[in-house]
Amino acid sequence: MATIKLDNIKKSFGKTDVIHGVNIDIEDGEFIVIVGPSGCGKSTLLRMVAGLETVTSGEILIDGAQVNGVEPMDRDIAMVFQNYALYPHMSVEENMAYGLKIAKTPKAEITERVAEAARMLQLEPYLKRKPRELSGGQRQRVAMGRAIVRKPKVFLFDEPLSNLDAKLRVQMRLEIKELQSRLGITALYVTHDQVEAMTLADRMVVMNGGVADQIGAPLEVYSNPQTEFVAGFIGSPA
Ligand code: ADP
Ligand code: MG
Repeated sequence: MATIKLDNIKKSFGKTDVIHGVNIDIEDGEFIVIVGPSGCGKSTLLRMVAGLETVTSGEILIDGAQVNGVEPMDRDIAMVFQNYALYPHMSVEENMAYGLKIAKTPKAEITERVAEAARMLQLEPYLKRKPRELSGGQRQRVAMGRAIVRKPKVFLFDEPLSNLDAKLRVQMRLEIKELQSRLGITALYVTHDQVEAMTLADRMVVMNGGVADQIGAPLEVYSNPQTEFVAGFIGSPA
């Protein structure tokens, strides 16, 4: 478990400023959803927390320690992407074990952690299958499994459900929420879908053109939008 602090984070690509000074304080075990339209900077913000993008200015602190220069592998963070990024030539079991192998985790512990994740995600019958032999929901669970086995302090999700059909999306949403609260792992979840944000978030961050327009509990944001943009985007009259 971990706290995350984003302190006046800014990001430019060349001369283009895309994040204009974002401040977010995330509590231990909290589920935070960053919601906003395409291009507003959600993925860029998440990638900076993951260490996949440098921060132009400002500080990121995890459990109070500044991590700006820390490599992604050393941040105790696991990320789940929208395209799953599973290794096609590896079995489910191998996909889940791979990150641990790279990290030189002892073999017995890898076996134990993969078995535990498979049990939690109901993947036990599919361990020997390749990703192409799985349904979309099962692939999504493997991606989750790969994140869980690392026992991260923080989960990062970038639109993990957007490739799934509507019914499965609702089901997987519930599974993600259930798993996150059971494990108590601090989560930062990005989506352009307001309904997804409202149902998942302890607090949501509504982003608009590289700015966090409003941060609050879903009901609070819905019933008391602070800007015209938030009112329009969340669908409540101002
Ligand atoms: P979102 O995830 O909310 O759709 P992104 O964070 O992907 O938004 O992008 C925010 C802005 O930053 C967009 O205008 C996008 O074109 C720009 N951008 C993202 N990544 C890069 C990059 N590597 N180089 C240049 N511009 C980028
Ligand atoms: Mg994105």
